[in-house]
Amino acid sequence: MIEKLTKIFSSFPGIGPRQASRFVYHLLRKDKKYLSEFTELVNSLKESVSLCTLCFRYFETTNKEISYCSICANPSRDSSLLMVVEKDTDFQNIEKSDVYTGKYFILGGTLSILEKEPEKKIRSEELIKRVAGDIKSNGLKEIVLATSINPDGENTAQFISKILSPLIKKHKLTLSMLGRGLSTGTELEYIDSETMKSALQNRK
Ligand SMILES: [Zn+2]
Repeated sequence: MIEKLTKIFSSFPGIGPRQASRFVYHLLRKDKKYLSEFTELVNSLKESVSLCTLCFRYFETTNKEISYCSICANPSRDSSLLMVVEKDTDFQNIEKSDVYTGKYFILGGTLSILEKEPEKKIRSEELIKRVAGDIKSNGLKEIVLATSINPDGENTAQFISKILSPLIKKHKLTLSMLGRGLSTGTELEYIDSETMKSALQNRK
């Protein structure tokens, strides 16, 4: 039991076997009420969270008929601006900093330089479809690439510029990069509001 749970926690992003076993002992020290609340939340996670069919971010709703998240459905968000981020936690932090008014697209991963099938590792087809759709019906003017400031992030940004380049050229879109002034290794997930603000203003 302990070993099995440790294995599960070790598979979480950024969690090693040591931390994983600490989690298990933490749970062992808790009472039954805590554990049942915990398992109930885990059990109902998939039922109360949907994946937005436009930006591919997870959002909470009990109504499974709704397919767009609150940002995609919000008419006061700037549809001429589309920011491409790696993961949900990046989106969360950018949104929290309250400096960006456009729309989003979540790639769902990054590409290392050695990646053999880059188009399958991230939502590349979905992104092309989204950009084409936004050009057609939402007046898209600029795509902001907001990938991490590290080799994988750079590589991902390069790949995206390549696959979007026919659409960008044809429709004269602006392709900008967030945070050229940010230092190497900066994780968008942890960036503070002020830094985010200047990274957004200084995008190139
Ligand atoms: Zn959405």
